[in-house]
Amino acid sequence: MTISNEASRLAGALARSVAGPVLQPNDAGFADELASFQLGLRHRPDLVVGARDVADVKAVQRFAGENGVPVTVHSTGHGMCFAADRGIVLTVRRLNGVVVDPVDRTARVEGGTTWGEVAAAAAPHGLVPPSGSMGSVGAVGYTFGGGISLLGRSDGWASDFVRSFTVVTEDGEERQVDRSDAARFARLRGTGPVPGEVVTAMTIGLLPEGNLQGGGLTFDIGASDAEGDTAVLHAFREWTAGAPDELTSTLRVMAFPDEEFLPPFLRGRRIARVAIALRGTTEDADRLAAPLRMAAPTIEDTLAPMPFADSARVHAEPDTPGPYIGENVLIDTLDPTALETLAQPNGHTMVIMNIRHLGGALSRPPEVPDTVRGRDARYLVAAISPVDPEVSVSDPSAAHDQSGPAWALEPFVPAQVGVSPGFSVGPRGKN
Ligand SMILES: Cc1cc2nc3c(=O)[nH]c(=O)nc-3n(C[C@H](O)[C@H](O)[C@H](O)COP(=O)(O)OP(=O)(O)OC[C@H]3O[C@@H](n4cnc5c(N)ncnc54)[C@H](O)[C@@H]3O)c2cc1C
Repeated sequence: MTISNEASRLAGALARSVAGPVLQPNDAGFADELASFQLGLRHRPDLVVGARDVADVKAVQRFAGENGVPVTVHSTGHGMCFAADRGIVLTVRRLNGVVVDPVDRTARVEGGTTWGEVAAAAAPHGLVPPSGSMGSVGAVGYTFGGGISLLGRSDGWASDFVRSFTVVTEDGEERQVDRSDAARFARLRGTGPVPGEVVTAMTIGLLPEGNLQGGGLTFDIGASDAEGDTAVLHAFREWTAGAPDELTSTLRVMAFPDEEFLPPFLRGRRIARVAIALRGTTEDADRLAAPLRMAAPTIEDTLAPMPFADSARVHAEPDTPGPYIGENVLIDTLDPTALETLAQPNGHTMVIMNIRHLGGALSRPPEVPDTVRGRDARYLVAAISPVDPEVSVSDPSAAHDQSGPAWALEPFVPAQVGVSPGFSVGPRGKN
């Protein structure tokens, strides 16, 4: 059943039992309430409800359960894969409380909290979360996919740190999910919730801040429309094959178009950047980075000590919403010929290729069984391409033909051992 015919009456009934906004499509604030990092998809529900607290989540769940109305949870929108076209979208970004227990080294994180908010709450205690490349990503949504943190090879998956989730189910009841509820706990840590489950909080372990060394080595490997120099690519492959577990790195390659909006050093150039993070001294960082620095001249080298609060500078990704499709493969070997395709002209610019080095603590069996994919992988190859928001939002089925980057992953498919759900995002012709 949809609620569109009765939307006003039902919106009124719901508004009486929740403290947060209850909005219909023509109400002011409806679009803002659905604000998202992903702009290539747009939810078009009958109602959007902004949960102010757990009581609101319970009320929405109970209402939806009783009326047979589907509920879609929306947090930051970084990982959106489909657009709801009916029912209720429940936004959870106001559920952003963090309570740190410095003795137990844990944080109780509400369901819509971003990693930046968790890091800010943990910092005064000298603690840091197992967060990733960007602070604006939702802590809970990220952890559903396992969560490859900045220091993943030394620390493990973010989901390895989860002690428990608090889940509100369709009956409006709240339950703790921890190792005593083995199947559900395993599923939430790796695959995520099923329809009808809203996570209102998780309790997750924190780590001592230590001395973070981080930054990127950037190389110009040639013109975007010509065969590039593969020396840095091969150096990355050899370097990561022998890297110690304390070192986590990602190779990013992108061919920039020759467009005036870009700074001159990027215009029409193919750029490779290796993001590096480790805990240790400056001497450790210099020693470990030496083989890469010797592979080719850098055009930028930002590897240096940094407070964890600045850790977004490691990957230096633009933190601005946009329309994009992300696809990925988990692989067990990095084939040199496949790697060289990153330096070949192919007529497609603006596809961002990221090769994340896995292994180390990310390969260890979990203490408590889970459904995380990638423990047997050595690398994650992720491709992201921008899409035209007008086309994808109005006709999501057209998005796949538009500019999905799956073609860029094909050379890596023979070594594929899986797919990481957290990095498969955007309109992919699924709805
Ligand atoms: C720029 C960028 C950088 C990234 N960096 C990393 C990285 O370093 N490491 C990594 O592992 N991943 C990374 N990711 C992937 C990211 O972790 C996933 O896309 C993740 O799904 C984002 O979660 P979210 O809550 O922010 O997004 P959303 O799109 O809001 O949510 C993602 C999914 O989780 C569901 N959900 C969210 N919160 C709840 C809740 N409280 N209860 C029930 N369901 C919920 C939503 O319904 C949706 O299906 C990155 C993604 C982007 C776009």
